[in-house]
Amino acid sequence: MAFPGTVTEIEHLAPDVVQLTVSLHDEGFRFLPGQWVNFRFPEGVSRAYTIASAPERPQAVQLCIRRGPGRGGAALNELQAGAAITVEGPHGQFVLPDGDTRPVAFLAGDTGIAPVRSIVLHMLATDDPRKIVVLYEPDRKYILYAADFDPLARSGKITHVSGPIEPLIERYRAALSESVVMAAGFDPFLERAASALQRIGFDTSKVISESFGPQP
Ligand SMILES: Cc1cc2nc3c(=O)[nH]c(=O)nc-3n(C[C@H](O)[C@H](O)[C@H](O)COP(=O)(O)OP(=O)(O)OC[C@H]3O[C@@H](n4cnc5c(N)ncnc54)[C@H](O)[C@@H]3O)c2cc1C
Repeated sequence: MAFPGTVTEIEHLAPDVVQLTVSLHDEGFRFLPGQWVNFRFPEGVSRAYTIASAPERPQAVQLCIRRGPGRGGAALNELQAGAAITVEGPHGQFVLPDGDTRPVAFLAGDTGIAPVRSIVLHMLATDDPRKIVVLYEPDRKYILYAADFDPLARSGKITHVSGPIEPLIERYRAALSESVVMAAGFDPFLERAASALQRIGFDTSKVISESFGPQP
């Protein structure tokens, strides 16, 4: 389904990474945390972006976007607050499995943190009792959504650690072995994460993953 809306805010989270906040005119828009939408820019270009905000706030949908080199990136450069856009969806199967009580371990690279933020905020909002581990590989030193994750990690509600993904996977191998593992990001990150999981003997066919495609 297509939902017309307005971009209400554009924030720069890191070099070449922006967060868009979108207000949809139809209050009936609903999504599962982890899903993505086709975002149609005012000039007609459309690109897939994953919802970074919790479904508890459907009136302010947030997208976390690395500016790409193509037409999507060019359209993003031109985008201004107040622009009329359309969102089609939601789509995708990167969602928490139903009826699985195991801890959840997320592997996220760069803006691959978008669906993870949505899922984690939802789990906390609904008092989900599952343990949460987030292993995050940032682009350089830019920890996206540190303002959300740092206080949660400090208070012990979640584990959130960042750095190159291979040593993190090695360090958390015990936690990973007993968890549902969900991985999101661009293909080179997902491939490196899969190789590191194989090295610790993890069955990668069990990983729930979302590919953002080639690295922009
Ligand atoms: C399921 C999914 C979720 C994603 N979520 C995010 C996210 O949350 N944050 C983020 O930073 N990036 C996300 N991406 C990547 C994003 O969609 C773009 O691919 C990226 O921003 C580069 O776009 P570009 O136009 O700048 O580059 P381009 O090089 O022009 O395009 C890159 C890719 O976009 C696809 N594409 C090209 N033309 C079209 C078209 N007309 N309609 C639809 N797709 C087309 C092709 O797969 C192409 O390889 C996601 C991708 C997918 C598939």
